[in-house]
Amino acid sequence: MVQSDSWERTNKSDTHLSQLASVGQIAAGIAHEVKNPLTAVKGFLQLLKQKNDEQYIEIAQAELENAIAILQNLLHVSKPDLDDEPFESIDLAAELELLTQLFQDQFYRVSLVKEFEHTGSYIYGKKNQLKKVFFNLIKNAFEAIPENGSITIRHTADKERVMITIEDNGVGIPANKLEMLGTPFYTTKQSGTGMGLTLVFSVVYQHNGSIHVESEEHVGTKFTITFPREIGRIKRKEVVKLDLIDHSSPNIENLTDFFTLNRAAFEKRLLAEAINVRDKIDEIMEVGNINLLDNAHRLVLLVVEGREHEVISFAKTEGIVWAKHSLTLAFKLEWIQAVRRVLWDFLYNYDLSDEKVNSRENFFNLEKQINSLMDLFLNHLFISYSQFKDDLIRAQREMVEDLSVPIIPLSRSTSILPLIGPIDALRSSTIEEKVFSKISNDRIETLIIDLSGTLEMEPEVIQQLIGVIEGSKMMGCEVVITGLRPEIVKIMVRLGLNFGNNAVTKGTLQQALAVYIQPEHLQSKPE
Ligand code: ADP
Ligand code: MG
Repeated sequence: MVQSDSWERTNKSDTHLSQLASVGQIAAGIAHEVKNPLTAVKGFLQLLKQKNDEQYIEIAQAELENAIAILQNLLHVSKPDLDDEPFESIDLAAELELLTQLFQDQFYRVSLVKEFEHTGSYIYGKKNQLKKVFFNLIKNAFEAIPENGSITIRHTADKERVMITIEDNGVGIPANKLEMLGTPFYTTKQSGTGMGLTLVFSVVYQHNGSIHVESEEHVGTKFTITFPREIGRIKRKEVVKLDLIDHSSPNIENLTDFFTLNRAAFEKRLLAEAINVRDKIDEIMEVGNINLLDNAHRLVLLVVEGREHEVISFAKTEGIVWAKHSLTLAFKLEWIQAVRRVLWDFLYNYDLSDEKVNSRENFFNLEKQINSLMDLFLNHLFISYSQFKDDLIRAQREMVEDLSVPIIPLSRSTSILPLIGPIDALRSSTIEEKVFSKISNDRIETLIIDLSGTLEMEPEVIQQLIGVIEGSKMMGCEVVITGLRPEIVKIMVRLGLNFGNNAVTKGTLQQALAVYIQPEHLQSKPE
């Protein structure tokens, strides 16, 4: 069963199959099936001529309806375009996964093996038509097994092709009947229609695919279907169909169960979505001890359960943790949006199988709840993130401010405060606070404030400085101002501001030091 082998093989049955669904063959089928009821109608019409019996009319009518039904059925198969289904990207592996769930009631007697490789390979086609194809093939396989047996469905792909095989160990098909496969109305079943394979061939050929059948009586049958692979097209068209535990499983009573039981699939999908975050997960775990996958799962559960309060507090702690470890916010944003998208894919898949959710109103409400809770989470996350950062910045700024007001002791009673750089309102209040507390704590008797490094000061700041000097004086500390810049003096003169008697001024720091710091000063300043 080497797959690549059978791709290349063209044997008798292959050649035959590629000619199927031709007009001639379908016409032969129609002739055969429709001729009988029409002959019957003709007969009853003749009888009516002889005897006007209502019964004949009823029988004729029933026969005509039968013929019409056959024709309609045939039209559907030979013209699958009837409902004008659009082409789209299809991952057959995902479709097969969903389809096999329809045969759950058979699993007790037939074991189903799925060997899916290269999932996520896309073909371009009509989804419903293709679903019918595989539904028919799988159904035939089940029907070919009278009691117990097994069916293996394989999916594989290479660069150019996607290949699916459906293999059963059922009754098999006699070699001389292989030619009949796909012929309309050919059936060996009591209640068969013989239309299944006709549709299969017709749709597969419409998709530029090919069919290969191998069969042996009493051993089994293997159908191999190959399609050209779609490359380079946008892969995600609408909603992604996921490989999930079905909602109808007895273990699933609500959305919470659904998410809990499908957790592995959820994580897989999330990782596929959040391309940029994916590689960071370990790093984030290392840096911040944050388990992104755990947290995403928790968030989803809180959201689907509508626990608003907990969503908010979770957002707050997440925001703080994220800020604390200086993790990039862009990653968080991408991650949360990926969670939102996957959540939607899941809901869609859940919705597929649940009538309760299926009502328009319910679905609308659920949509509103989920979107608003996700938004709530994002909002609070950002608020707490930026609050934390703001607090941090404020604390850092305060520290910097503190450092920018260095009161350096020169002797036991004399200190110097060199002010360098611009002084704004915040800095001047730091100056005020620090000067007053230092004077009182360190018992400073003389404070030299050197302003030679300060080129400009706003009038309000000068005023505040005058206040500092006044306050210092009141506390018994003499303030000496040195290095006052002409620019600042000009402003003071213009505004009529001065230090009054509260401060001594000296031209330069050196002059002040010469006066206030003398050798004996350093040693014997009285208490
Ligand atoms: P129906 O299933 O209604 O008979 P189909 O077109 O699906 O119509 O199949 C036509 C016939 O082909 C079946 O009646 C059966 O004899 C044969 N056949 C199809 N698939 C298989 C299979 N997997 N194993 C054995 N016989 C099959
Ligand atoms: Mg069938």
